[in-house]
Amino acid sequence: MGDSTASAGPPGRLLGLAVVVLTACSGTIDLSGQELDRLDGGGEPGVRGEAGAELPADAGGGVVADGAAGDEADSGPGHDAGIPLHDDAGPPPGDDASPPAGDDAGSPAGDDGPPPPPDSGAASSVIDNQYLGYPTWCRVTVHTHPAKTSGSTIANAYHELGYDLVFFTDHDYDTQTAPVSFPDMVVAPGEEVSTADGHSCALGITSFVQPDMSRQETIDVVAAQGGVLQVNHPSRTGVTSAELDGLTGLWGIEIKNEPQNAPSDVELWDSQISQRKRVWGTFSDDAHDTSDVGRGWLWVNTPTDCSTAAVLAGMKSGRFYDSEGPQLTIAVDGNTISVTSDTATKLEWFREDLTLIKTTDAASDSLTVSGSEVFVRIVATDAGGRVAFSMPLFITG
Ligand SMILES: [Zn+2]
Ligand SMILES: [Zn+2]
Repeated sequence: MGDSTASAGPPGRLLGLAVVVLTACSGTIDLSGQELDRLDGGGEPGVRGEAGAELPADAGGGVVADGAAGDEADSGPGHDAGIPLHDDAGPPPGDDASPPAGDDAGSPAGDDGPPPPPDSGAASSVIDNQYLGYPTWCRVTVHTHPAKTSGSTIANAYHELGYDLVFFTDHDYDTQTAPVSFPDMVVAPGEEVSTADGHSCALGITSFVQPDMSRQETIDVVAAQGGVLQVNHPSRTGVTSAELDGLTGLWGIEIKNEPQNAPSDVELWDSQISQRKRVWGTFSDDAHDTSDVGRGWLWVNTPTDCSTAAVLAGMKSGRFYDSEGPQLTIAVDGNTISVTSDTATKLEWFREDLTLIKTTDAASDSLTVSGSEVFVRIVATDAGGRVAFSMPLFITG
């Protein structure tokens, strides 16, 4: 069934399958134990990888190409015209064009599709698929410093790249009143809070969050405002899995603080999701200057538009993927997960404990789960080393 989703058709449902597009960029993860060389691999953000660049053997390469994404910082508007998979621009607000059934409730794949083929492996496993093929894709950054650091310059740079929503997350700074606004890009309030346990981005908040509280207290304050909290650049501040184990309600972990390559950040993330905790991994620019803009972002899928509320809801459900360039479409049918990328040349399929299930040297493939996995997640890499990371699709055996 992989083929059924491989098309370049419009985003959204295809043949009744829940479809999601993901993009990836450069990094490679070889998680088999030693872990990734991924983010380092050739791909420095910003470098756009040209096709043909060599990838480390395990790096996989995906190709993704392009488009808006890949062109990151120097490319023009990011509203990706021309990307075969999804169109980040999304329909105008309000266009809820028949979202696939079930929202994020995580219904087993393909609600409205045909029954699983008889050859699907493990009969009773259920893939909790958050990639439901909604019509709108929003290019989002969750960590940037536009308000306090350099006025509207950084925000303008995101706008020029075609971003749909930018969280302003200046250090311990009240961003409720943004210094700039755009007709076609949402500026959403956030804050990089200096908690007593390290930097954390509070996203979707409605009032200033005081610094110096513990990480847990900060999570609770932010949640009470309807927002979410992520741990920023954990390897830089010595965050341990034991500390994360003690947290309740943590939304995310920065797994790539561009252009830093810190495999241990992915290991920390894995330590949480391997326990079935819904903690999502994010790529961020941590932009303090315009030259930092457009290196790694989230593609958030929504049923409506790229408003703060719609994007935040998608983020809370893990209905997004991270990318430095490649885009992906993920579909689930029965016990099988299919992935198609526009430009990836390599797909890596991981389960818990950084275990690599298989590597595909192609832009699309599928995997039938055994039912014993805690989750399956996919890393796509393009020829330039840019990667895209799906979020885990949790599995109940
Ligand atoms: Zn920081
Ligand atoms: Zn920062």
